[in-house]
Amino acid sequence: MSKEFKARRLDVKAFAQEGAALEGRESFQAHERLMAETEGRGGSSAVTWTARGELRNPRHVQPDIWLHLGAQAVVSLTCQRCLSPVDVPVAVDRSFRFVADEQLAAAQDEASEEDVLALEGGLDLLELVEDELLMALPLAPRHLICPVPVNLAAADPEFDTAEAERENPFALLEQLKPRKP
Ligand SMILES: [Zn+2]
Repeated sequence: MSKEFKARRLDVKAFAQEGAALEGRESFQAHERLMAETEGRGGSSAVTWTARGELRNPRHVQPDIWLHLGAQAVVSLTCQRCLSPVDVPVAVDRSFRFVADEQLAAAQDEASEEDVLALEGGLDLLELVEDELLMALPLAPRHLICPVPVNLAAADPEFDTAEAERENPFALLEQLKPRKP
């Protein structure tokens, strides 16, 4: 009998035990932090994602609980050269291993090759989708060829450098949680 899984509060363990899958498609309005990155424009398409649970070593006393996540969106960012909107396709394909609690997750994430998260409290899958898409955004988005004449301020190479070096809040997240290849 298949359980009904809720993306906003996913029982990751049961999801993995069943080898279940979920997929979703939301407008940008469902993702406040992504909307903020686009200055309220959102994107030219919806945010789409798929998630799949997997139990590795099922005969082991403590089998490994995995979640595989894929997400895509075309995000309307601001071109750092001409300062007009630029559509940037962003895609994420990641796998996470889940352990019992935050303490184990922190210790094992540090020590192992993979990304380790905690099972506690149920997983907000949509928040994870948003986190991952935010981290995949380019720091200095640009058009390949800008559609409008570049103004003098934006064409100044020093201006470009300053923009590229401006602190990105998600760069900080990156530092807190080491990314794995
Ligand atoms: Zn541009």
